[in-house]
Amino acid sequence: MDRNTEMIELKGVGEKTRALFAKMGIETIGDLLAAYPRDYEIYKDPVKIGSAAAGEVCAVHAAVSGIVGEKKVRKLSILNINISDGSGSMQLTFFNMPFLKKTLKPGGFYVFRGIVQRSPDRRGGYSLSMDQPRIFSLEDYRKQMNQLVPQYSLTKGLTNQAVRKCVRQALTFYEFAPECYDHGLLQGNGLISEKEAVEAIHFPADMAALAQARKRLVFDEFFAFLFLMRKNKEFSQQLQNSYRLSETADTIRFLEKLPFPLTKAQQKVWQEIKDDLGSPYCMNRLIQGDVGSGKTILAVLALLMAAANGFQGAMMAPTEVLAVQHFETVQGYVEKYGLAFRPVLLVGSMTAKEKKAAYGRIASGEANLVIGTHALIQEKVQYKALALVVTDEQHRFGVRQRESLAEKGENPHILVMSATPIPRTLAIILYGDLHISVIDELPANRLPIKNCVVNTSYRPKAYQFIAGEVRKGHQVYVICPQVEEGEQEDLENVVDYAEKLRSALPAEIQVAYLHGKLRPADKNRIMEEFAAHSIDVLVSTTVIEVGINVPNATVMMVENAERFGLAQLHQLRGRVGRGDSQSYCIFVSTRDNQQTMERLQILNRSNDGFYIASEDLKMRGPGELLGIRQSGEFSFRIGDIYADAAVLKLAADAVDQLLLDDPHLIQPEHERLQRHLADMSANSVDFRSI
Ligand code: ADP
Ligand code: MG
Repeated sequence: MDRNTEMIELKGVGEKTRALFAKMGIETIGDLLAAYPRDYEIYKDPVKIGSAAAGEVCAVHAAVSGIVGEKKVRKLSILNINISDGSGSMQLTFFNMPFLKKTLKPGGFYVFRGIVQRSPDRRGGYSLSMDQPRIFSLEDYRKQMNQLVPQYSLTKGLTNQAVRKCVRQALTFYEFAPECYDHGLLQGNGLISEKEAVEAIHFPADMAALAQARKRLVFDEFFAFLFLMRKNKEFSQQLQNSYRLSETADTIRFLEKLPFPLTKAQQKVWQEIKDDLGSPYCMNRLIQGDVGSGKTILAVLALLMAAANGFQGAMMAPTEVLAVQHFETVQGYVEKYGLAFRPVLLVGSMTAKEKKAAYGRIASGEANLVIGTHALIQEKVQYKALALVVTDEQHRFGVRQRESLAEKGENPHILVMSATPIPRTLAIILYGDLHISVIDELPANRLPIKNCVVNTSYRPKAYQFIAGEVRKGHQVYVICPQVEEGEQEDLENVVDYAEKLRSALPAEIQVAYLHGKLRPADKNRIMEEFAAHSIDVLVSTTVIEVGINVPNATVMMVENAERFGLAQLHQLRGRVGRGDSQSYCIFVSTRDNQQTMERLQILNRSNDGFYIASEDLKMRGPGELLGIRQSGEFSFRIGDIYADAAVLKLAADAVDQLLLDDPHLIQPEHERLQRHLADMSANSVDFRSI
């Protein structure tokens, strides 16, 4: 069994299961083993009911004292059962499991595991409850106790246990290829073998083993990324400027007409861009600026300068939704301020005919600004005189894609925009081939966003508040972690939540939903309708995390906020507070335990992405690193640029050393590494068109 072996070869995987795995992008054993757990559960010793902590996952060993109620609400059957263990009692609620009243014998002892909730009772005390706990015999529970049980991303119809079984089987029969690094490199960096690492990432013996496994896999990922980037640097450094651009009246007049002055920070960066464009060398610049700092306008200015000098510019965005939005922004500017753009849109969902027409206008030079997704770098696109390439939220793109777009022109200028806040030392490693400009100031007209962190009991109030904002003419985003029911039971999903909101909100409020599995054309349509305000409330996954700009939206409500990394929540928050109205963020946490609340409170304290990322890191333990993804901009599978900064440095040193010794990997001992990197590079063109 090797990495190309089909999933169907596993015992127990039939056509149906194969299709479920395929739905998650898992087609081969290699894919399966690379689908690392998103988290680990630890089954700790059962606790006494009397000392169970509210908001936390607990197991209690208790006797069923009786069935206290059974009812049907619409299609839902609800069963309430009481349990007690001498230290206290607790009420359990089960949904759609009526058969339990037969299986759970009164007086029988079981282990119940779930999130403990505490609510005030009529007598002024508190009562404890659990919804939908899992049930074990004491013996079964003991078997799993104190192990790290991997939790995989799932899809409806596929259980965690089924995935776990497949991974176990695959690990038993899988033949690992020989190590691609030499022994010295592994030892020098304190890395375990690939085999040990892959085994332990799925089934770690303990926390220390998990940390070792992560270290090796993170190193692999960073090493490949940095190697490819360093090669890129070779390619882009100090190229002669074939397009010396000079400032014209166009940009000056545009700036005069804009309804707002550039901030000091924007002015500084604009000057740096102008200097680059006119210098003897090609521009290779990164603009790093927090969400809402106004990066787009700088890109538009640079593109206008290219157009005014008679050349073409291109702007590439990671999602269609974002590309369409940029296109419309530019068209708005053209109409309002008479800018010298003849823009054309190029995205995957356009018809063949539309694309052909666009190719024609690009090749003839009739279009002097091309805005789109990775469709911009397809072979068929020929540019007439491409002088400037802008990529927005660039780390959604592999380095290779940036390179391909650059190759479309004759060494065009490169401008990259990013909202990921990273310290300068890391930025130099990660963007080694770019000069860095920082926008460290937000436009002055912004009112600080008001935040609150609440538990689910606050929902009715939140809905009232949302209805109120809509009545004032504003719009609202609601974010849920999953697309549809079933991937994980305890998480809210976009489809059902939209339905729930429709019935909770007044009928005249238009609710729609958006997620990555919709067809691109549908996504675009919904986003356009939201921008045009024919939708009031948009329920969405984090598809809208990147770049979306609808200044009329004033409320961002995030369900299961505890599931997101703080940096990601910060990006989401950046979708509101973009106009002059007061904006609000409501983070709803399903787990109101102290640690979760403290973590979320960091967002309450600060609006500074950089501070948030570093505070978040301080609070996370090694086990939490897998579940929580940092900013989506860096699409590392497992590495986390903040938490794994030390490994990033190790990998950077190792790459530099390798490039000194054998830059083209022609020495025989580097043959395997060369092949490995070629594979990784093919995979790094991982355009996630979410
Ligand atoms: P980001 O940096 O997150 O990409 P955008 O470029 O989308 O942010 O800008 C967010 C909003 O701020 C836009 O509506 C934009 O027109 C506006 N904006 C940009 N610069 C300024 C400024 N100097 N003063 C006021 N508003 C600005
Ligand atoms: Mg942006």
